[in-house]
Amino acid sequence: MMIKHVSPVFVEFIPDQIEEGNLYISEQYNTVIHKCCCGCGEEVVTPLSPVDWRLVKGARGISLYPSIGNWSYQCKSHYFIRDNQILWAEQMSPQQIRRVQQKDFQDKERHIAYLNSNRDDALKQPAQKHVDVPSFIGLIRTVWRFVKSKFVRRR
Ligand SMILES: [Zn+2]
Repeated sequence: MMIKHVSPVFVEFIPDQIEEGNLYISEQYNTVIHKCCCGCGEEVVTPLSPVDWRLVKGARGISLYPSIGNWSYQCKSHYFIRDNQILWAEQMSPQQIRRVQQKDFQDKERHIAYLNSNRDDALKQPAQKHVDVPSFIGLIRTVWRFVKSKFVRRR
């Protein structure tokens, strides 16, 4: 049976029993889970992150962006969750599905590269300090050599 609307249930941990028609939201673990709205019984996990889904709590209900495309399930259902309502989208062709999956993959790659570049920057900073230390020692040595040369000459 196709589901027309969902009831948001805010939880910390996702329960073992997922009831059809409920949208379980764990903000602590950035995860939303529900049973596929086509009625096939498959559990659909939608992680919340900049490259996965975004949860919007509106006055009239919960919305998830972007749409839910259950490509890996038999039903291949595709729908939107807007203000607790299920809006059924058109079935996508295999080519369209592949394009969406490719874009998702590229977005993730880019996001991971971004996170890594931030981490690399963080790692570079202490290394730069190490570079500064020998050059400071080098400066002291130059000064010392200069002082010593003056000293030696005086003798
Ligand atoms: Zn389904």
